[in-house]
Amino acid sequence: MQCNVCEVRCEIDKHSMGRCGTYVSTGNTVIQYPDMGYLGALPVSIEAVPLLHFYPSGKFLQVFSTGCNFQCPGCMARMPASSRPSVQQASLRPSEIVEKALQQECLGVVSAINDPVANYYLFRDLAVQAQEKSLLVGCSTNCYFTSETLEEFGQLVNFVNVGIKGYSDRSYRNCGVNSSAPVFRNISRLFDMGIHVETSVVYSKGNEDDVIKVAEAVSEISSNIPLHVMRFLPFGYAPIELEPSVGDAEKICSDLRRYLDFVYLFNSPGTELLNTYCPECGSLLIEREFHRPFGSRLVKPWVSHTCSCGGSIPVQGKAATEGFNETGFMDSYSISQDFSMVHAVLTCLGVLDDYKLMDVWGEDKLMNVWSKVSDSKTLTQIHNMIRQPYSYLEFIRFIAEIANMPEKGEELVSFIHKRLKIVQNLSAGKSSYNVYYCMGSPLFSLNAGRMENNLVTFSGGVSINKQLQKEGKLGVNVSPSFINEHNPGVIFVSGFLSRPLDEFYALCQKYRIHAEAVTQHRVYEIPPSWDFGSPRWILGLLYIADKLHPGKLGVDLRKEADDFYLQFYGMRFKEARPNRSFHRPSSGIWPHTQTLYNDLKIEMQKQGSTKNFGNEIIQPFNILPAFNIKLKG
Ligand code: SF4
Repeated sequence: MQCNVCEVRCEIDKHSMGRCGTYVSTGNTVIQYPDMGYLGALPVSIEAVPLLHFYPSGKFLQVFSTGCNFQCPGCMARMPASSRPSVQQASLRPSEIVEKALQQECLGVVSAINDPVANYYLFRDLAVQAQEKSLLVGCSTNCYFTSETLEEFGQLVNFVNVGIKGYSDRSYRNCGVNSSAPVFRNISRLFDMGIHVETSVVYSKGNEDDVIKVAEAVSEISSNIPLHVMRFLPFGYAPIELEPSVGDAEKICSDLRRYLDFVYLFNSPGTELLNTYCPECGSLLIEREFHRPFGSRLVKPWVSHTCSCGGSIPVQGKAATEGFNETGFMDSYSISQDFSMVHAVLTCLGVLDDYKLMDVWGEDKLMNVWSKVSDSKTLTQIHNMIRQPYSYLEFIRFIAEIANMPEKGEELVSFIHKRLKIVQNLSAGKSSYNVYYCMGSPLFSLNAGRMENNLVTFSGGVSINKQLQKEGKLGVNVSPSFINEHNPGVIFVSGFLSRPLDEFYALCQKYRIHAEAVTQHRVYEIPPSWDFGSPRWILGLLYIADKLHPGKLGVDLRKEADDFYLQFYGMRFKEARPNRSFHRPSSGIWPHTQTLYNDLKIEMQKQGSTKNFGNEIIQPFNILPAFNIKLKG
């Protein structure tokens, strides 16, 4: 049987579930995998999806499930996207989602994180039931639907954010499908059907021309369609060299505004290009700030969509006068971060990971652990444990016990504990520095209670971030005067999203930040994932202590890094090609296949189960080939 939901058009038989692994054949039709439901349902503001011109600050119930028809390098939602429904431990039916949305006074439901293409029949049931209760319905999608499915899909949704992979077919082949043409065809059709459409495109180094062509193509449909430029964040296999600086991303956004009236820049804390400016006169109309990767939030409610010059912004739906902001811990982003942090500990315990290896044993172990930690009480417990150096040791023990690997857990605890003692002894003398911790821009301050600021305090520094009363998802925008008044002697730039130091100093000059750290050149970039998210924060702590107590730490940081990487990742630090993943120390192939393949039997994937896939994929990131891998014996 052929599945006609998307243009991959998989052949599905009793041995195959199609590319997304979520459909089965009954013999005369293709249906959704039985018992499939949604894995999570949490309220978000619409800007978190993101959509910026639709019911601003409106509260929507965001749902996600498993599976995806694309296999994009560096995908941040890799875990839900590549999981199979058979390992779902808990799932919500459409009727339960609708009930929750009504109970929580949401304006509607939105499917995000994994693609609704992979759950189309489930999504259709949800949309029909939601519409019956007058809820709005939408999703973020790669929009690779067939024309026939799109006609029906267009009747089900009020709004979509289409994630465009690029203009060229090559950019789509990178994700394992043939062509970009169906996506632009579908955007045009949805727009004509009166659906509210916003678009997103990833900008990575080297794809500038492609991104410009995307803007041109979207402008041919309508120059009013917002384009969200996602600065590429290299997770998984993707190398860090592909991450453009925030400055480069701002420049390309300015170029794109020649084609489109509304171009927004994401994944770039502190940028002014998340704001809406009047396309007629250029006046600032509304400000937004970075809320988390791929998300934003309004600084204040956006009530009037008309400029004083008379120009108006095409915004659909009434703005919420009291905007909803998902704060606290129980939201989808925090939960996915939490999952990544659990995963990061498991990696250090030896639960290794690869797309294909997950199918063999890694995923089962991961999902087994995940199912035991994903209730709200445990998540809150984890959230508290990962914020302080010593309580993090309890987090390791907790995960190691669930994974049934207590000895491995103690090895990791022992390594970290020994270094904590060294820093604790050193910091007893206190550092004289006020310290400021920011991310991506001098104007984006990390939240007071975060691990990074607690590492500063643990090292004897005085964290000025702790003076801030307000909080965002990761942090908040601050004014230059806040930094100047507290005059930090040292500034650390987070290792999660970075800005090169030359750009950082240029921004300090632009914003007239003249703190001692800037004038004395004591601004330091923390190496990727050395300060939060991964047990590698212990190396970040040594790094911070060394900068706050120059010449007094008494350990060779490079040797410490080598020891850690060898003991817990089986590689030397100098061999690692960093990226932004918490759970893996290196981009490219890791762990080294030579060692792993000794224990594995590799078979070519059966033809037919993944039509149009496997023979034309460009593999710039050393992605493992499309093999089935099984443990020998
Ligand atoms: S990728 Fe998924 S939705 Fe697309 S045709 Fe294959 S099974 Fe159907």
